[in-house]
Amino acid sequence: MTAKQLQTTPTRYPLDWAAVCFFTIVHALALLAPWFFSWSALVTTLFLHWLFGSIGICLGYHRLLSHRSFQVPKWLEYAIALIGALALQGGPIFWVAGHRLHHAHTEDVEQDPYSAKRGFWWSHMLWIFYPNSEFFNYEQYQRFAPDLLAIAFIAG
Ligand SMILES: [Zn+2]
Repeated sequence: MTAKQLQTTPTRYPLDWAAVCFFTIVHALALLAPWFFSWSALVTTLFLHWLFGSIGICLGYHRLLSHRSFQVPKWLEYAIALIGALALQGGPIFWVAGHRLHHAHTEDVEQDPYSAKRGFWWSHMLWIFYPNSEFFNYEQYQRFAPDLLAIAFIAG
């Protein structure tokens, strides 16, 4: 480990025990799957994985809401945002603000909340277990997702 990596060790942030418990419980329940196998459950799982991951996150949260790569009618945008929320990766404002912050600072390990320069596990999931409140707060949401905060259906 280099001096720079030591300097950016994520454990300087407090561990989010709620996230640890959530992920532990979900994955422990997933280990029970072989005892409850059925073909209809497998098909349902594959369909929901595609719906939540591909449509909700990749198409919805990422391409539509974060980058505004295309436009759809508002009712469809809200439906896709709702599907994204069902993927359990956080609400659209949290996700979009974090992603836009990530794109704005991909070369800066201190400013990118998911910096791959901190390693695979950090960029994949450790940032969830050690959340940095400097990145995920209302001020940052106002700065990086003001368009979503202005939508009552999304902002609540
Ligand atoms: Zn992106």
